Amino acid sequence: MKQNYRTIDQAKKIIAQEEGVVIKNWGGKLPIALVWPNSYRVGMSSLALHSLYRLFNDEPDVVCERVFLGYQQLPQRDEPLFSLESQRPLDEFAAIAFTISYEMDYFNVVQMLRQAGFPLFAAERDENWPLLIAGGPAVYTNPEPMAEIFDAFAIGEGEAIVPPLIDALWEINQAPRAEAYARLAQVDGMYLPTLHHDGPVPRVWVKDIETRPTVTQIYTPNTEFGDRTLIEIARGCGRGCRFCMAGYVYRPMREMHLDTVLAAARHGLKHRDRIGLVSAAVSDHSWIDQIAIELRKMGARLTASSMRVDPISEPLIKGLAESGNQTLTIAPEAGSARMRKVINKPQADAQILHAVELAAKYNFPQLKMYFMVGQPTETEEDVEAIARMALAARQVFPRNIAINATPYVPKSHTAFQWAAMLPVETLETRIKYLQDRLNPNGVTVRSDSAAWAAVEGTLARGDRRLGRVLARMRKVNLREWARALESEGLSQDDFLRERRLDEKLPWESITTGVSKAFFSWDLRRALRDDLTPACPPAGCLKCNACDEEWALRPNHQAVLGPNLGAYGDNFIPLEVSSQ
Ligand code: SF4
Repeated sequence: MKQNYRTIDQAKKIIAQEEGVVIKNWGGKLPIALVWPNSYRVGMSSLALHSLYRLFNDEPDVVCERVFLGYQQLPQRDEPLFSLESQRPLDEFAAIAFTISYEMDYFNVVQMLRQAGFPLFAAERDENWPLLIAGGPAVYTNPEPMAEIFDAFAIGEGEAIVPPLIDALWEINQAPRAEAYARLAQVDGMYLPTLHHDGPVPRVWVKDIETRPTVTQIYTPNTEFGDRTLIEIARGCGRGCRFCMAGYVYRPMREMHLDTVLAAARHGLKHRDRIGLVSAAVSDHSWIDQIAIELRKMGARLTASSMRVDPISEPLIKGLAESGNQTLTIAPEAGSARMRKVINKPQADAQILHAVELAAKYNFPQLKMYFMVGQPTETEEDVEAIARMALAARQVFPRNIAINATPYVPKSHTAFQWAAMLPVETLETRIKYLQDRLNPNGVTVRSDSAAWAAVEGTLARGDRRLGRVLARMRKVNLREWARALESEGLSQDDFLRERRLDEKLPWESITTGVSKAFFSWDLRRALRDDLTPACPPAGCLKCNACDEEWALRPNHQAVLGPNLGAYGDNFIPLEVSSQ
């Protein structure tokens, strides 16, 4: 599909509204397309995209340009594809790096390759085509459904992979595919699905998130977070919620020090008066009270990506309220204390309701509560407990309350990777029960489609055969999906069933750090309603995600702040051992 003047004009207008865009001369440089398989508006909300854009463009011999599936709010499936910065088509780049956060964007990947005129499968593309590389949490945890489409996968964190990847790409520019694949396989963290690796490819990660802080690189009004500077104040989470893929694969938790957060904020305030704090659990940062207080003193308006209630940071809640945030969001995830033990998120009812009281005290216009429906061992009594929890919040909070009742999708590389996904009909019945029970009582119940959640579940724990299913689909709808599965002789139920503990799992081609033995141990504890303690700040090698250098780092206490809630009872104040 050729560029047309309307879309080129649109791209130029978008660039003209950006601060921080990098426009490089292509001469003598390695051109890399950084592709987000969704719209500009969605992609530019992702700090990961900002970080990769900087990592690639920081290399003087690389020119990296962004490609999106359209520049409207929703993906555009009928527009020509070209890079934003220089409006070049994809086949002019040496390599194309997709970053994929969400399995449902696999449909968009296929669409983009078709729009760009690329043969879909790697086996059909020779060295005259750019190398297609994918990274991001969706493929980082299970590359197999995309394994016949991409040439290579980046398993791990961008800071660790990008520099050696660029070296390799320079060496293999236009080399025959077999030679290129062999060289890429030498880069730590690269998985080549057509090659035989000696065991699962381990993820790579960085210990230092301070030296090059992950912050907004490009400011644009054309995205959800266009009014703020996003700062990643911590990466990973040691709480061990058993459903949470991000919590496991970004282990161990690494914090950015208070001074670095404040320095990044000072810089960000030159662009926007709002600072968005980003991490798996913002309120778990050991300096969170000081961060909130100091940023408010600097005149910053605050937002937070996520929050726990055990403990809750009142200075943060106060700072969010004073900053004009309209909604306070908390995530109990389950209504009953028993289910919260099963999922290893043991927030007490009293802690959850205390957060609701603070939302009322600081006059938030809206309270949002996130729950999941269909987690392992859930009964109807547990669903009723969600309703009771929401009604208890209704008693305390006088303004709008909405709950999200999201169908639970088991993910690879979590303790629940072996669990069956609940049938669509059961999920729908339980969500409907909540709607009927809560809507008349002034609590709005929102949910995602259970049928599409089952598609997500299939892709999340799928295998290599699913690439052919995606290729068969000419439209993205449930009927076409069912038809494509059937044509390939596959059954969705087979992907959503419970897996045996001794079964070889498709995603064992890679490891994300946490060992299979830890997951099976943790699953057994879940089925006994036993809690697994949160990570200690150091001195632990239990799940295998930390290495000895990290576990035994000598200065860990010196950089910790006073909020030690993230470590539960596991805080070790003095000695560090290797056990
Ligand atoms: S090795 Fe220990 S501290 Fe490190 S992530 Fe695993 S459980 Fe947490």
